[in-house]
Amino acid sequence: MIKKIVEFLFGGKEKAEDNQHQSTTNTNEKVKPKKSLSQFKKSQILKDFIQAEQKKVLMLKPHFSAVKLDVNNSKMGGDPNLTNFESYPTCSDCNNKLNFILQIYKSEYPSFYFPTNRDLFQLFRCPNMDCKGIDYMKSDLKMYSYYFKQGDNDFDTKIEYNEIGELEGPIAECKFYPIPSIDFPNYDETESDIYSILETEYDEDTENFMFENYSGKIGTKIGGYPAWTQSPIYPSCKKCGKVKDFIFQLSSEEEEDVIDTETKENWSPHGLMMGDVGNIYYFACKTCGDEALESNWDCS
Ligand SMILES: [Zn+2]
Ligand SMILES: [Zn+2]
Repeated sequence: MIKKIVEFLFGGKEKAEDNQHQSTTNTNEKVKPKKSLSQFKKSQILKDFIQAEQKKVLMLKPHFSAVKLDVNNSKMGGDPNLTNFESYPTCSDCNNKLNFILQIYKSEYPSFYFPTNRDLFQLFRCPNMDCKGIDYMKSDLKMYSYYFKQGDNDFDTKIEYNEIGELEGPIAECKFYPIPSIDFPNYDETESDIYSILETEYDEDTENFMFENYSGKIGTKIGGYPAWTQSPIYPSCKKCGKVKDFIFQLSSEEEEDVIDTETKENWSPHGLMMGDVGNIYYFACKTCGDEALESNWDCS
């Protein structure tokens, strides 16, 4: 203990390393002591990083709902609003009836991207793990997204799911309890040189602190930055060539809100597992509208 205090006060550890360094490289260059986490928290580089890179994000925070939710609410799972489908949506490759994943209304979530004259977004996916239509660059199962204008149609379509074979089952119905927050880009997405400064000037705790507090948040969310687990890929619009904007993330894992019951696994309240707790990211070209919506994904 005393040795530790002495080292702390007089930099004994650094000195020892310094000597070692000199003996191996035979130079007079001094190894500067690394700065601490508390110094980093007060530093100008962190302030500048926050100022330059912060983006608003809305964490949707799905919670399992024991009661059936109205189809006119934004939600995950349960019964979708089917008034815009003449018949229940099926996969264009394998004909399976699609699993309903989520719907978002503009009236409730104006910060979500809606092309002109659209006010309902819906996501479905083909439950068939052997579907020929799966593009593993984009997702684990084939995803289907739709934008509608409420009131354009009034079909009386009923919910239908398949009950055969090796298919992904419907997901648990969840209500959103949205929380506004601030999001940051991951280390390999930021243009700031903060991570190289951390590596040379600060001790290891600071890097962990950055990863935990200043990177893309995991969880289903509107806006912010993708919580990439692999290298960032931003698709370009095939029509106009512009790099698309990240608009939405669908996550297998919902941090803080894990449930642990006998009937469900504990990674999320909805039970939707994409790859190995992966995320699917949605990108839009706001100039070219709903046809330019595109997804890609990664998993740990
Ligand atoms: Zn299919
Ligand atoms: Zn475009």
